[in-house]
Amino acid sequence: MSQFTAYTGRFAPSPTGPLHFGSLITALASWCEARTQNGRWLVRIEDTDIPRNQTGAEHRILSALVTYGLYADCSIERQQDHLENYNHMIDALKAQNLVYACSCSRKQLTGLSAYPNTCRDKGLPFEGNAIRLKTLDKTICFTDRIQGQVCENLRQTRGDFVLRRRDGIISYQLAVVVDDMRQGVTDIVRGADLLDNTVRQIWLRKCLNRLQLPYLSSIEPIYCHIPLAMNAQGQKLSKQNLAVPLPKTEIVATLQKAFVALGQVLVEADTPDEFLKSAMTHWDLSRVPRGSQLEGIFI
Ligand code: GLU
Repeated sequence: MSQFTAYTGRFAPSPTGPLHFGSLITALASWCEARTQNGRWLVRIEDTDIPRNQTGAEHRILSALVTYGLYADCSIERQQDHLENYNHMIDALKAQNLVYACSCSRKQLTGLSAYPNTCRDKGLPFEGNAIRLKTLDKTICFTDRIQGQVCENLRQTRGDFVLRRRDGIISYQLAVVVDDMRQGVTDIVRGADLLDNTVRQIWLRKCLNRLQLPYLSSIEPIYCHIPLAMNAQGQKLSKQNLAVPLPKTEIVATLQKAFVALGQVLVEADTPDEFLKSAMTHWDLSRVPRGSQLEGIFI
């Protein structure tokens, strides 16, 4: 059996602030799905965007997961520990002529919905420039377990997209795809706000597959984008919208609220562990509301 065939799910928070109720919904959904499939559940800290990282956020995120009983099955990984690997991938993609350097400034591209591939044939040096992945003028589709079929022609919607910024920061797209492949993630359960990144990630994965690296899984993961919890202003709960950090008391009540928001039955319990054990047996993905937003107002 291949080392990559077993169900592997993950929760991948960025340390840009504490976990809030919206993060709990996603973490709980991916945890329940992994548990009901007898799979592994990984936690990965996505900290490549250094200027956005908040001091102490990683510690607060990891303590909140423990408080809520959501333990990872393997040691926690941090993307900062894999920077060399992402840069190595860029070199390997370069050798296949799949990436190129771009010197366009943000200002030059303002107002454009898709990057017009301006620098594609300029042969600019990689050093000191952004690195973009070539896209095709071709529609790519996938079927999300909740959101249904999604199709996108990257050439028309995005153009060639950035894998490494000019300042050397590795993009979310590159880090997330390389790590999901390296960790053998088979099922990606995450918030619906990330749905429109997925076709870019599928394309990047196809390009990385061409490198035929034995330590990257070539299995196409199954996607499941969970509807988002919204606040009274109709915005998704997020660190940017100052969503309230997860409470340190009333843990079971908060887990119950998240489970019910996910369309699941009310599970009675006295402790988080008792709740999760029971939640695992009652979890039913087909009950999760379809669409991109959950009913109700959350804080
Ligand atoms: N790091 C991303 C976030 O915190 C999640 C990435 C993913 O699940 O693909 O929003």
